[in-house]
Amino acid sequence: MIIDCHTHINNYHNEEVESLQKCLEALQLEMRRNRVDVSLILTSYKVTAGRPSTHDAVRATRNLNNVFVVAGISYLHHTMDDLNSIRPYLEDGSVRGLKLYPGYEPFYPADPKLDPVYALAAEMKVPVMIHTGDTFTPKGKLKYAHPLNVDDVAVDHPDVNFVICHLGSPWFRDCMEVVYKNSNVYTDISGLVLGNFTDRFESYMHKQLQEMLTYGVEPDKVLFGSDWPISSMNSYLEFMEELRIPPKERQKIMYENAARLFRIPVQQQGFNIGSLLTKLT
Ligand SMILES: [Zn+2]
Repeated sequence: MIIDCHTHINNYHNEEVESLQKCLEALQLEMRRNRVDVSLILTSYKVTAGRPSTHDAVRATRNLNNVFVVAGISYLHHTMDDLNSIRPYLEDGSVRGLKLYPGYEPFYPADPKLDPVYALAAEMKVPVMIHTGDTFTPKGKLKYAHPLNVDDVAVDHPDVNFVICHLGSPWFRDCMEVVYKNSNVYTDISGLVLGNFTDRFESYMHKQLQEMLTYGVEPDKVLFGSDWPISSMNSYLEFMEELRIPPKERQKIMYENAARLFRIPVQQQGFNIGSLLTKLT
């Protein structure tokens, strides 16, 4: 069983091009090829022809039982109406989490303007994923994307689970400490590379992840995610295969943690891990 907790259906090459259906088909094909059972697609902080809204993403994936949506929230432009409009999707499970994009937008996660977002996440018991580290565009502002900023919100909102996306890359140690210290903070390994890992970079990243686990980050707090189509799903699976960790830890990272955190009904996927579901909170 594999859950990819971090994919997109955005057209990064041309935002003017209508892409939803095509991207979704490409995602399904990529999942079949790589035996990925479930993917979460994260919608953007902006809506363009090439970046579908949460509503469009929910509509397009409604009949798929292996794809769920995480709703991107724009710090700059979201309104209470926007938050209320995704509430029914959180209730029916088509949206499994919320995503913020500090760095891409100029804000710190602890900004009080986001309190209603965290209140909604606490109420609906869904995690908040937070972009951290390097930005895809040089126009991003890195100080907002530092993983240490997640510590503030994690402490102030103990009833919300947070995911530091991309291991805080390249601030791995800071990410490590924030995940280690806060029981409500997780991290995903997505988006560490554009396309495929080179051998050198792969062994460098193996070392970072290994160091994190050695330092005391529990394997229960690390999630498999690729950031497809930015990163190659196949290359990511090879990366995980070559990581030297016990099979039980691998299993946690590959799907158990994500199933628990996003409350993904893995039983419906035909896998007999009922005991896992009973542990869901
Ligand atoms: Zn991403």
